[in-house]
Amino acid sequence: MPPRFLADEMLAKLVRFMRVMGLPVRHLEGKSDSSILAIAKIGNFTLLTSDEELALRCKKRKIPSLYLPQESVERQLSLIIRSFGIRLPKFSSGTLCPACGGKLLKVRKAHLIGKIYPAVLARRRLFWRCGKCRHIYWSGTHYIRLRKAYNKVLKLSS
Ligand SMILES: [Zn+2]
Repeated sequence: MPPRFLADEMLAKLVRFMRVMGLPVRHLEGKSDSSILAIAKIGNFTLLTSDEELALRCKKRKIPSLYLPQESVERQLSLIIRSFGIRLPKFSSGTLCPACGGKLLKVRKAHLIGKIYPAVLARRRLFWRCGKCRHIYWSGTHYIRLRKAYNKVLKLSS
């Protein structure tokens, strides 16, 4: 089991990417460093941060953390994977909602009539709905891009 991850405000892009890759992560926005540290400690989280000073403060307080240099999200994720010995779930099977981290469930086209543009419905084959925020996703160019990114992460992590 991967650790319970908590990410600081600067890592919004990484958070979305991690969720799509099937790794749960809580994202903190608009919190002071002290409250980030408190939340990490109380919630037994491992803090992911691009703030060197914050990472040092974690070390002093014995809060598990990982400092992530500001580089591509693929590199950041592969660093997380290597540091914690995580195995990524198979692509598309473990995908979580990038917006809220909820579970994505496959939806049949018939259930989506009237809910999304007919042109999208006609053109796309696979649809998912977030069990938490109800957002609807479909396969498309975005999906293909993610698949490539996923393979890149695997390559960087091996
Ligand atoms: Zn959602």
